[in-house]
Amino acid sequence: MDKTHCHYHPAQPATWHCPACPRDYGDCCLPQNADATDYDPRCPLCRGALTFLGAANSAQPFWERISTFFLYALQSGPLAFAGLLTLASLFMPNSKILWIVLLSVATKYLHSVIEASSQALQEAPSLQSAFVGEGFGLFFKQLAVFLLAGAALWLAADFDSEALFWGVNLLIMLVMPASIIRLALDKELGAALSPELVGQVIKAMGWRYLILWVFLFILWQSPNYVTFMLSHGLPRVVLMPVAAGLFAYFAVVMCAMMGYAVFQYQGALGYVIADESRQNHFPTAEYARRKALAEAEIRLKEGQSEQALEILATALERSADDLKLNERFHQLLFGLQARERCLRHLAHYLPLAARQTPALAATALLNARQLQSDYLPDDALLCEQLAGALLARHKTREGLSLLRNLHQRFPDYPHIPRAYLLAARGFAEGLGQLEPARQLLGFIRQRYPASPLLGEVASLEAIITKLAAVSS
Ligand SMILES: [Zn+2]
Ligand SMILES: [Zn+2]
Repeated sequence: MDKTHCHYHPAQPATWHCPACPRDYGDCCLPQNADATDYDPRCPLCRGALTFLGAANSAQPFWERISTFFLYALQSGPLAFAGLLTLASLFMPNSKILWIVLLSVATKYLHSVIEASSQALQEAPSLQSAFVGEGFGLFFKQLAVFLLAGAALWLAADFDSEALFWGVNLLIMLVMPASIIRLALDKELGAALSPELVGQVIKAMGWRYLILWVFLFILWQSPNYVTFMLSHGLPRVVLMPVAAGLFAYFAVVMCAMMGYAVFQYQGALGYVIADESRQNHFPTAEYARRKALAEAEIRLKEGQSEQALEILATALERSADDLKLNERFHQLLFGLQARERCLRHLAHYLPLAARQTPALAATALLNARQLQSDYLPDDALLCEQLAGALLARHKTREGLSLLRNLHQRFPDYPHIPRAYLLAARGFAEGLGQLEPARQLLGFIRQRYPASPLLGEVASLEAIITKLAAVSS
């Protein structure tokens, strides 16, 4: 099965599909409201209902997670399960009934591991859960599958053909994991024996089913090898519990791996399972702004810039001072060269950006100057903040233009000395024009003799004097 990706973000896995549009969307495009979980997202384009693709496209392949399956089986539930089998092998009386009870509990537990793992639950089922509820019959169903497989082998052996026997043997070994998976998911003997349904599992995974099979085969052999290596010199009374414990451990690892394979290929298997991490769920306010940003981006990529503007404008009515929304709105208006509207929005956006992220404000001012070459904000503090940001970006002339005649434009502004000191630095350091710098500093001395900035004025004057001496 090939992965599908977000139509607008080719690197992101698709999680939703709109059959009407038709479009695939990733979580990137459909943020969800953490405060209203029963609400499903709608198609950003047609507002129609979406089909959930589950985590089929975003799931990490099982062969990259091998170590997690070994760790999975080290949780308290699986360890208790291994402990149970170990103790049983040591102390349980030789009673058929008791062994059947034990094996049916074990089968039920292992199937619950497959089931939990197929939902990508990190936590293994507790051992207690295997003693309650339904599903003890699973053992007999599983037993029936094994018995039928044994019968088939026995029949094949009867034909006196080595090739046929091994062919049947290999076939049974190959399809067994798929049959076990089917039984764990459907809990029906018919499903576990149905060539169609079992084949569907194999078909869904394609050749990767072989990877799973190889891993399972190695795991299946592991307890045998370990006990074989231990068997030299160890008494039977030690060996049996070791073998039972190892069998339990590796069985849980195998079941966790099979379950996860179901999770990974859920789409092809006809299951839809959500990734429980809920990474793209946000509190209502954050959700609203992310939704607006995502939908505006989609509209823009669809070439529907008017709708993109409307989406952002509506969002800005709710949260007028959201910097990111304002930034996107500005970029969009500027990109569309919507001159009037962009200039109108700048009156709100520039002070906001200058307060929070001066670099953004500097960019916005340069944009404004492209729309209107003599654009000048009508606020002294804003002019000063923008000038600082522009000078920092070596846009010296643009920065200085904001400070020109500031004392005449805003006679009541209390920070004229600070602003002119900045301008003097711009002239001297940015443009190398020492004379206007000296004049500005002189102006500060003369007009504001009590200014606390006079110390800085003096040191800048000293620098200018030195610079003048060097260049003359
Ligand atoms: Zn996307
Ligand atoms: Zn749609």
